[in-house]
Amino acid sequence: MVGGSVAKADGRGGARDRRCARARRAAGGLWLLALVGCGEPEAPPVGPAPAGRDSDHPDIVFVTIDTLRADRVGAYGDPLASTPTLDALAAEGALFREAHAVAPLTLPSHATLLTGRSPATHGLRDNGAMRLPDAVPTLAEHLRGGGYRTGAFVSAYVLDAAWGLDRGFELYRSPFRPQDVSRAGAFGEVELPAAEVVNAAVAWWESAARSGEPRFLWVHLFDPHAPWAAGPGDPYRGDVSRADGHLRRLVEMAGPDAAIVVTADHGEGLWSEGERHHGLLLGRAITRVPLIIRPPGGLAGPLELPAPRPGLPTLGQPAGADAELLLDAVPDAPKAARVVAPTVSGLDLAATLAGLAGLPFETEGLDLSPFLRDPSPDALLSALAARPAVAETQYPLLHLGASPLWMAQDDAHRVISGVWTRACSWVEDPACTVEAAAPPSLSDAVAKLQAAPTASAGPLDPEVAARLAALGYLTEAPPAPPGGARTDPRDEVMRLRALREAELLRDPKARARALEALIAEQPGLADARLGLSLAHVELGDIPRARAVLAELLRLWPDNMMALNNSAALAHLVRDDEAALRDAGRMIALNPRDPRGYRIQLSTHVQREDKAAVVDVATRGLAVAPNDPNLHYVLGVAQVQGGSPAEGAEHLKIARLVGTEATDVDLWLGLAYERAGDVDAAVRHYEAATRTMDGDLRPWGLAGLMLARAGRCAQALPFLVNVSKRGGAVPEVREALARCEAERQAARAPRPAPP
Ligand SMILES: [Zn+2]
Repeated sequence: MVGGSVAKADGRGGARDRRCARARRAAGGLWLLALVGCGEPEAPPVGPAPAGRDSDHPDIVFVTIDTLRADRVGAYGDPLASTPTLDALAAEGALFREAHAVAPLTLPSHATLLTGRSPATHGLRDNGAMRLPDAVPTLAEHLRGGGYRTGAFVSAYVLDAAWGLDRGFELYRSPFRPQDVSRAGAFGEVELPAAEVVNAAVAWWESAARSGEPRFLWVHLFDPHAPWAAGPGDPYRGDVSRADGHLRRLVEMAGPDAAIVVTADHGEGLWSEGERHHGLLLGRAITRVPLIIRPPGGLAGPLELPAPRPGLPTLGQPAGADAELLLDAVPDAPKAARVVAPTVSGLDLAATLAGLAGLPFETEGLDLSPFLRDPSPDALLSALAARPAVAETQYPLLHLGASPLWMAQDDAHRVISGVWTRACSWVEDPACTVEAAAPPSLSDAVAKLQAAPTASAGPLDPEVAARLAALGYLTEAPPAPPGGARTDPRDEVMRLRALREAELLRDPKARARALEALIAEQPGLADARLGLSLAHVELGDIPRARAVLAELLRLWPDNMMALNNSAALAHLVRDDEAALRDAGRMIALNPRDPRGYRIQLSTHVQREDKAAVVDVATRGLAVAPNDPNLHYVLGVAQVQGGSPAEGAEHLKIARLVGTEATDVDLWLGLAYERAGDVDAAVRHYEAATRTMDGDLRPWGLAGLMLARAGRCAQALPFLVNVSKRGGAVPEVREALARCEAERQAARAPRPAPP
């Protein structure tokens, strides 16, 4: 037992209180407190007594590898895989042969992994739309309340803190830059280098060790997600192998006494059923994910090698597409210290991680940790047998105007339902091509999913709904396409392919024509309308681009991407009223998404409405305390508006959280000058002369300030430099003349004493 009763008595609160007290002294404001995770005031922890690090409460490393298909991992049977770390973990742990994600999308699936609630319950049905409601308890909160240190390190903007998965993590690292997000066509492609993410995670792990409290670390790796890196061999397997390499560093960091849990949020289509990536369909390639748990100390014994089953064939790879991908079926042939056969779900992860932590957590899923102590835990086996794994995708509805899909699978059968339903025996027929009778429990499970509301309205609380109504918006159910029933996404694969092909057309005119043709066929094709508006932007026709977005928002009032683009275009053409309205709508839909505040802020800055700038930035920072843009703009506004000390704090935080602004030191110099600290101001002006290459303002401001302070000797080099480079305004010329005269006077021979 490490730490023992002393650590328990001190608990997590002690270390945190000390850190927060330090932060309070340093901050002089609320934002730094929010930054280091200090609430005001701290509520007593609820739940079990705080834990010290010991065998009952081991350190836990939870790694999600985005888009990792189970059948591309060596331990699952892939002879072409290069995944030595995953294979070694399986050799010392339990491999779950049939683990299934609850959704083929990153945010909905991760929200389930980290709460143990289904998408219909936690409300995150698509990427980038809603945020996790405060009423949904999180695993991180639970573990933190039980005495764990909690840190999260994510690699892609789809898991930004804005969507609310940060709740319960002392540190949730998601330093995505707004400029990258607005530049990227698809924000799913805004990612951080994995090595940087792992470095930060390792540093946190080491620093958190000092407290003596157990640690829960979640790291999200993004390598296998498209775009795949170019290189020799199969590009998807190459990215999987890279992720395995990063995992190796985390396993080495964790050491033998930690529990290590690795899974994925969903698989990848790789042309199974006609889908290249993921989101649209619910085939086995998409929902089946690896799940490997290496308990503290590992499991002993010879490797289990159950009989292989047929692997998933590739159906209908388009001619010439992805010729470098090796798509032959891979046998389902697991190899691990323990192979767990029953079908399990992403719903089970939160309860399982809590079970490993010795802190039981009530969720919609089952705690699978008994499998690490007993190869056949009877109660758990019966609970699993009574409960199929289920999945949903609302992506077809929200992006294509087609029907959502639902899936249920038990240990023998699988049912996928949309406009039409197919049941099959997946053990013999992994691609589910042949109809086979399935037990009623599966159709019941699907019917239950279908009875849950669709994603259209989202989990709006009455207050948010009232704010929306006040803004003139009503959230309505998405329209049925003209002529009646929705189409089935499995029949929409060709249209999706045509859409993706159209989006790749370089010539914006040709792209606009192709997208218009697709929209004429399928008016609910939200993504095509987004693409069409961007094509009009490229063609310089902003009014048409805005009209396309207005029509999209009439059909889909909650489409965040459309709202964001609509607000940005309105801002561009100085339609301030529309920009503020659309950005306000974004804030109402997700008060934690900083994009809406940024657009409102830029609009107020343009209008030079300083009171509104401070108001919006303050509200934005209350929900996105690490947003560099908001800190920067608020800091500048405060320096200009007579609160230089507060302004300096925001400017420093803006730099700390990664602002790209090059004139931060200039504004810091001004802030200190206005606060009367000449020495600090000089230091920042000097720094600004280096970051603002060719800009004479820091030279001029430093020279003038020093001259005014009567420090001519220090002022002269700055003033001379400005003058030489042709930037001498009358004020500078006057100060230069005065200081040079002073120097002459100082050099002049002193009059002889009388
Ligand atoms: Zn994902």
